[in-house]
Amino acid sequence: MFDRLRQLLGLKKSLREVIEEHFFDLVEAGISPSVIEGWKESGYETLEEAIRNTLLEGRLRDPPLKIVLVGINGSGKTTTAGKLALWFKKRGYSVSLGAADTFRAGSIEQLEEIGISIGVQVVKHRYGSDPAAVAFDAVRTGSDVVIVDTAGRQEVNRNLMEELKKVKRVVKPDYTIMVVDATTGVEASEQASTFDREVGIDGFIVTRMDLDRKGGTIVNLCHATGKPVYFIGTGEKLEDLEPFDRERFVKELVRSI
Ligand code: GDP
Repeated sequence: MFDRLRQLLGLKKSLREVIEEHFFDLVEAGISPSVIEGWKESGYETLEEAIRNTLLEGRLRDPPLKIVLVGINGSGKTTTAGKLALWFKKRGYSVSLGAADTFRAGSIEQLEEIGISIGVQVVKHRYGSDPAAVAFDAVRTGSDVVIVDTAGRQEVNRNLMEELKKVKRVVKPDYTIMVVDATTGVEASEQASTFDREVGIDGFIVTRMDLDRKGGTIVNLCHATGKPVYFIGTGEKLEDLEPFDRERFVKELVRSI
């Protein structure tokens, strides 16, 4: 109300003016130009309001839970599976990890090592075996929380999509979460839209936020899919997982611009 009045009296810049002035800062923060352009016509009065209303913060409900992690290669899925496992273990729940990435060399050992280090059971088969069968066995452990790691490819791939759909049919997950690297850039939202269309996702965990503090990728992901961000990854250690805090994110982003 006062903002509007100040604006009418010429004492305060309109959102359009603010955006025009800071367009390149916003692009530099990783926000896609089409999202920024859209804000000009959005009716929001401040940049803070525009960013806040584009973002969605998600919270997982309490266990029992079955979670399938999906995403492209190297986005941080295996590490994030371990981080989530530790998160729930610390809260007193029994946890099983399913090594359903039977494609990438080393992924099964990577998950096993994580499992040993945090004292969580890892269900595995051989490389090249059916990921849905691994996922099925992981669910059969009956743990409070079952987290299934899946394979990625460099880009979105038809076989992968079919494989993931099958894993989902077998697991019937409470959450299918896409793991996205914050440093991916604007193509992350296109990848997310494809995964959502083909496999169906409930939201995101955004990794490597320690390397990309401004994290415009988060804005793009929420805008492209209308799905929330549950957690952010803030480092390589298994403790480096934080619930996504929308208010803090908005404040930090606006301050940095
Ligand atoms: P996957 O191929 O999707 O399973 O990816 P990985 O879990 O193997 O992760 C790829 C690399 O990203 C590894 O070196 C991880 O340690 C690293 N990584 C994962 N999450 C984070 C994070 O939040 N911050 C940083 N700095 N590195 C991360």
